[in-house]
Amino acid sequence: MTKLEKYVKMVVNVGVNIQPGQKLMIRCPVDCAYFARMAMEEAYKAGAEDVMIQWMDEKSARINYLLAPDSNFGKDTQWEKERVKYLVDEGYNMLSVSASDPEILKGVDPERIQKNQKAGSLMMKPLMDKVSSSQVQWTIASVPTEAWARKVFSDASSVEKAMEMMWDAIYAASRVDDNDPVDNWNAHVANLQSKVEALMGHNFEYLRFKNALGTDFTMRLPQGHIWLACGEKAATGNVFIANIPTEEVFTTPHRTGTNGIVYATKPLVYMGDLIEDFWLKFVDGRVVESGAGRNRHLLEKLLTTHENADYLGEVALVPHDSPISQSGILWYNTLYDENASCHLALGRAYATTVQGTEGKSEEELNAMGVNQSLTHEDFMIGSADLEIIGVTYDGKEVPVFVNGNYAI
Ligand code: ZN
Ligand code: ZN
Repeated sequence: MTKLEKYVKMVVNVGVNIQPGQKLMIRCPVDCAYFARMAMEEAYKAGAEDVMIQWMDEKSARINYLLAPDSNFGKDTQWEKERVKYLVDEGYNMLSVSASDPEILKGVDPERIQKNQKAGSLMMKPLMDKVSSSQVQWTIASVPTEAWARKVFSDASSVEKAMEMMWDAIYAASRVDDNDPVDNWNAHVANLQSKVEALMGHNFEYLRFKNALGTDFTMRLPQGHIWLACGEKAATGNVFIANIPTEEVFTTPHRTGTNGIVYATKPLVYMGDLIEDFWLKFVDGRVVESGAGRNRHLLEKLLTTHENADYLGEVALVPHDSPISQSGILWYNTLYDENASCHLALGRAYATTVQGTEGKSEEELNAMGVNQSLTHEDFMIGSADLEIIGVTYDGKEVPVFVNGNYAI
């Protein structure tokens, strides 16, 4: 079996873990259509009842952004709503392929992007609610595309070489090697679950973050918070791996419990461009001040486009010595970069990270400290010198991270 075949099998059978009689929706860029077809084949071999493919194309999206009249943006179309409703009603599981030229929308009017993203998020909300509460099995995985590989491996002698380097890096990060990937993933899940158990055992009231870059903040965790790692069980009863690769152990901060300043340690791809060297200052959970070395206006858009995008919805721990981090590659893609670094997310919290959230309204969730928003945007804050101290309800201080790595 080739590594590509192994990778596809692993994504379908371990990642989304499709079972006989289940339905699967594959969202995939046309640039890597072969991957979607291979995944479709695997899913049917696993007994899927129906596999649909939704083709994505960022190049035609760019043409649209540049040339379509203003009236074209921010539309919500009935047929798209119908499609989302159908996927929700029929219980489709989701496999998304994340592969994008990080600068595809460079130079496009951000107003246009903002309008479309807002309309798109609203339209997708019923589906995203199902996904983020793990009502269905879902996975995001990556496949190289030429523009993306060229950006990541800009020193490569040719596009072909860059593609080859990227595939090697993806296989390594996704634990596809000479062993059986199923065994590799079982061992990895067990390791991450041991960190989950340690963190749950302490039931921290606060976390304190510090590094030499200037990051210095405290973060209260909600009562009944739950630390999670990959290998979650969906409401369907089947275990799935939401992100491939994944190195994170995460929960949500209390919506109003973060105070202090945080410096990003990697650029953030947003609206098809890069926000670089940015920082955020929090008071009672809300961003009250921010700055960026490059594309500050995009950071402002991120904070203001959606309600509650200026509050946090995720805190994730990733050791600095994780294999993705050690590769030293800057991926310009959240799926990969977030697994190389401790990170926070602005916007929506996963309802699964706090006990007793089932059936609660948005208002009730916000009141419980579980931030509700149409967006969820990760940004990286990990560094080789990051210190995290956990403080328990009886005031005991426990080192959680020392010099960028787990101390528990
Ligand atoms: Zn995360
Ligand atoms: Zn996230």
